[in-house]
Amino acid sequence: MRQGKEVEDMAAKLLDGKKVAEGLKARLKEEVAGLKEKGVAPSLAAVQVGENRASAVYIRNQRASCEEIGIAYALHELPASSSQDEVVAQVKKLNDDDSVTGMILQMPLPEGMDAREVQVEIRPEKDVEGMHPSNMGMLVYGKMDLAPCTALGAMELLRSSGVEMKGKEVVVVGHSEIVGKPLTLMLLASQMGSPTPTVCHIATRDVALHTRRADILFVAAGKAGLISGDMIKEGAIVIDIGINRVPVLDADGKPVLNDKGKPKRKTVGDVVFEEAVERASMISPVPGGVGPLTTTMLLRNTVVAARQARGGQ
Ligand code: NAD
Repeated sequence: MRQGKEVEDMAAKLLDGKKVAEGLKARLKEEVAGLKEKGVAPSLAAVQVGENRASAVYIRNQRASCEEIGIAYALHELPASSSQDEVVAQVKKLNDDDSVTGMILQMPLPEGMDAREVQVEIRPEKDVEGMHPSNMGMLVYGKMDLAPCTALGAMELLRSSGVEMKGKEVVVVGHSEIVGKPLTLMLLASQMGSPTPTVCHIATRDVALHTRRADILFVAAGKAGLISGDMIKEGAIVIDIGINRVPVLDADGKPVLNDKGKPKRKTVGDVVFEEAVERASMISPVPGGVGPLTTTMLLRNTVVAARQARGGQ
């Protein structure tokens, strides 16, 4: 283990998601002002079915960040007892409302409801989460006007590093529909420099075999500690997308308790940060890496949708 000054010398540069997000928000704010001058008011309608503590926080943040850059935000709440048909009817109503330029369906939906069946009813032009099959399909053509926010956010963070992607070996750990798969399609796009992506997932025989030769490593598995330092190539760029809540441990490995006598928890990614920081040239922290960009990409998509609703001007 390296120590003191040596660690400082070796430590990777942090890819600061908050800073990149702030820069992006400032640009979006200007664009929203410009759109309004041309008579287009970007607006985001959120549909929520039933109540959920976690999504209440998420909704509060969504509203605040929309209002910060001048996007109107409206929450449409339906009772948990609603039928799927009633939720679809609400979505269709917002589809037909020209004053709504973007729509988002808050997760989770009540048990028994098929999120995919509801989501597909959102008109693709208003699908600011980029989850509609038609928007997902555009990724195959290298078009990412309305694309999944986390994948876009991870790409934006990589772009902020200024690294040339052409010719690079990129490994993506995780092949989910919302992160790994769209991210891989984005990487293949020529405007991204067409690096060479390899995708690892739960059934990959030897994940380390792949990660060790990655010049750029994206990790989105949702498994704390999955990627240790020895799985990272010296000088690689590491983008950790994972978000995990884990107990805080003391020096003896025992859980630290909070005031209420419950185990204290903290948020970590999928990468063992203290090890990775010594091997990587650049690394995104968790929290403060991809997370802030995910929310910002929802704003970016909302602005894109509003611009396109006006015929792309
Ligand atoms: P998911 O559960 O849908 O997919 C997990 C993926 O990881 C799958 O492809 C699975 O095959 C793979 N995987 C799981 N265990 C593995 C292992 N041991 N080795 C190799 N691959 C393995 O999860 P998701 O929705 O894609 O989210 C992934 C992580 O990203 C989660 O921690 C989630 O909280 C986080 N996330 C973060 C943001 C953000 O804003 N930063 C947004 C969305 C998701």
